[in-house]
Amino acid sequence: MDARYRSRDLGRKAVDVDALKRSFLEWLVYSVGKDSKTATRRDWFASGALSVRDRVVDRWMDTTRGVYASDAKRIYYFSMEFLIGRLLSNNLANLGLTDACREAVDRLGLRLEEVLEAEPDPALGNGGLGRLAACFLDSMATRNLPAYGYGIRYEYGLFEQRFDQGWQVEFPDNWLRFGNPWEFARPEVLYPIHFHGRVENFIDTKGQERRRWVDTETVHAMAFDTPVVGFGGETINTLRLWSARATSDFDFHHFNDGDYMKAVESKVLSENLSRVLYPNDATAVGRELRFKQEYFFTSASLQDILRRYMQHHQNFDALPEKAAIQLNDTHPAIGIAELMRILLDIHGLDWDKAWDLTRRTFSYTNHTLLPEALETWPVSMLERVLPRHMQIIYDINARFLEQSWGRYDMETIRRLSLIDENGERRVRMGGLAFLGSHKVNGVSALHTDLMKRTVFADYHREFPDRITNKTNGITPRRWLHQANPALSRLITSRIGEGWITDLEQLASLRDRVDDEVFVEEFRRAKRQNKKRLAAYIARHLRIDVDVDSLFDVQVKRIHEYKRQLLNLLQTVALYNQIRDNPLGEFVPVTKILAGKAAPAYHQAKLIIKLANDIAGVINNDPQVRGRLKLVMLPNYNVSQAEIIMPAADLSEQISTAGMEASGTGNMKLALNGALTIGTLDGANVEIREHVGADNIFIFGLTAAEVQDLRQGGAFDPRQVVAANPHLKRALDMIATGAFSPDDPGRFRPIVDSLLNGDHFLVTADFEDYRNAHAAAAALYRTPRDWAEKAILNVAGMGWFSSDRTIMEYARDIWNVSPVLPMAGEAD
Ligand SMILES: *Cc1c(COP(=O)(O)O)cnc(C)c1O
Repeated sequence: MDARYRSRDLGRKAVDVDALKRSFLEWLVYSVGKDSKTATRRDWFASGALSVRDRVVDRWMDTTRGVYASDAKRIYYFSMEFLIGRLLSNNLANLGLTDACREAVDRLGLRLEEVLEAEPDPALGNGGLGRLAACFLDSMATRNLPAYGYGIRYEYGLFEQRFDQGWQVEFPDNWLRFGNPWEFARPEVLYPIHFHGRVENFIDTKGQERRRWVDTETVHAMAFDTPVVGFGGETINTLRLWSARATSDFDFHHFNDGDYMKAVESKVLSENLSRVLYPNDATAVGRELRFKQEYFFTSASLQDILRRYMQHHQNFDALPEKAAIQLNDTHPAIGIAELMRILLDIHGLDWDKAWDLTRRTFSYTNHTLLPEALETWPVSMLERVLPRHMQIIYDINARFLEQSWGRYDMETIRRLSLIDENGERRVRMGGLAFLGSHKVNGVSALHTDLMKRTVFADYHREFPDRITNKTNGITPRRWLHQANPALSRLITSRIGEGWITDLEQLASLRDRVDDEVFVEEFRRAKRQNKKRLAAYIARHLRIDVDVDSLFDVQVKRIHEYKRQLLNLLQTVALYNQIRDNPLGEFVPVTKILAGKAAPAYHQAKLIIKLANDIAGVINNDPQVRGRLKLVMLPNYNVSQAEIIMPAADLSEQISTAGMEASGTGNMKLALNGALTIGTLDGANVEIREHVGADNIFIFGLTAAEVQDLRQGGAFDPRQVVAANPHLKRALDMIATGAFSPDDPGRFRPIVDSLLNGDHFLVTADFEDYRNAHAAAAALYRTPRDWAEKAILNVAGMGWFSSDRTIMEYARDIWNVSPVLPMAGEAD
């Protein structure tokens, strides 16, 4: 299956339909080992992927050659997660081969969609954070930035979600079972990763006191490379993912003792390191294996970077001019201590030099302010697992706090410390990431502002130039060009295709809102996408939805702060209103939800069950037929998002203000012509500025009001509920089993959490939210006016391209410039 075994005279591959068809057949026969009569869709996918991969490899090498020749500064994006989505459709689109491939596949008697859907969706991420990393890879390649993604090649990605009687059940995601045609295994790129052991002091030949980490247990990290195809196929970057391999000495140790089973067991245990992605989202798991994963991929990536750097340099002086390492959240923050260890212990640099180089090389992106999601690790665990790193963290802390003595009171110093001394002593990874970086960024204007005023207020006072904002973005390639061909074609027919790589060009669509033909075609494209989603819903859930109803969409991880519950309460209130007014004129609404809950997050799983139970009642009630449906789709992932985003009319972005760092689902939906109903949270604030306050439904408390209400101590959800008959009735129904007659008390915990404190202020925002929905429904009655606002949303979303985001990072944080590929000698 490896292209390297193919003869060089195949050279650069033709991209015409005949050549593609020949290529498909050749791979099918000679690599997959099937003929076209017996081939399954999966076989066709494999041969298709290999055919496309062939057309990427030459340019991939040109990219590497260009970067190598110029010795340009490289970007290294460190992320525990890359939620890349399917690659065949994406690579075809970015290479401009979709039509040729469709034709070739057609001649083979297949439909392209069948082949594309046979690809497993690599779920190497939980949600927004991992998807952001994937959008950045696409933008960096498209903008010719020399960039590498570094992460973990999990054998099992995020669990597959199914519903059993409405309850979430998790199934393992064995995505590599049938092989992965995109990746190149690099068994020769192998680095040792050490754990445990102890630290020795010694005096080196120059009389310097040094440290040596000895008696460690060692695992190997082996590289797997996946090409990242930029739009137009000019630059092909690399996503390098690490897989754990047992070291042979690990085995020998036990083999020599004659204990074969023990040897095999230790091999299995060490290879567990890259076995599975932890399904946590915004909550830290206190699991040692997770911490070891973080160190595993960070250490391997640093060793790889330093090896590459040392091919061109004699010392480390120029490292910050040649390497920019971006930490996607604190998961790889241990890399700061690891680079220090390498520079101090292995290369003998002095502390100040090592620290200066480290700080100028690293930068850090913060993704959350939720206290429960700020990563900390027990000191006792670090002392056991990475004893030398713990010493280095203590040294970083001591040198930092030294400057604070006398300037601050004890309370402030305790907050500044990298060690949390409340209870079990723990290392604060956010603090480590902050101190070890030259820039620290938030992911929306509001979030960055709150960072300065809350979690990092003390550090911000010390380093006022360090925090910077980089509002998230999304790639227009996957999220508009590829996912929404109907709208893409319409846009291109009017303004050309420049928007695909320069999304701000969409602004010129503002002039088209009076063009009746354009508006009509825009509505037709939306309807076509809604039909596609309706067919998907019918296929997966056997629910018929009305394509002309308002598609009201909330798709994202299930979390209390994202307030799916608020949406469900409004749904129940609407249901009651329709039943109370059988002759009333209501805008038909289809509520569409999807999202996974962390397996141990019981309240979130109960919310899923509630959604399914409510759906069971509403969808089977003849009194609301044709007026209200509720659809909860299982197994939300990138592929499903690609079908949902283009079909939405209304985008639910209703988190408690101050709690969503940015959101990117909000951007995907608005870019595809959905109107947002949302709080002033995360990037919603900036979306409002760009699409115009008249074209978005904003409701609810602001972040400042949320803070006041929580701190004031006077907020009483019971009073709010008692004063609002719609809310009271909906809650009473849920509490007394109207949706769960088989177990009337099932949802008591949900109702109780609202009545006792309501931390996420669902009750506080309910009435304003209901009014915002009424306004949306009223607008939907006039399709022409709705369409105009939808077009203005699309036109206003250009700024939210991840191309814009990534060029800001390149300019303000990385100081990196584009590099053009360098063609090799002709074959
Ligand atoms: C974009 C995306 C997310 C992030 O959604 P938010 O609404 O920003 O939380 C999560 N999961 C998938 C599959 C996505 O595509």
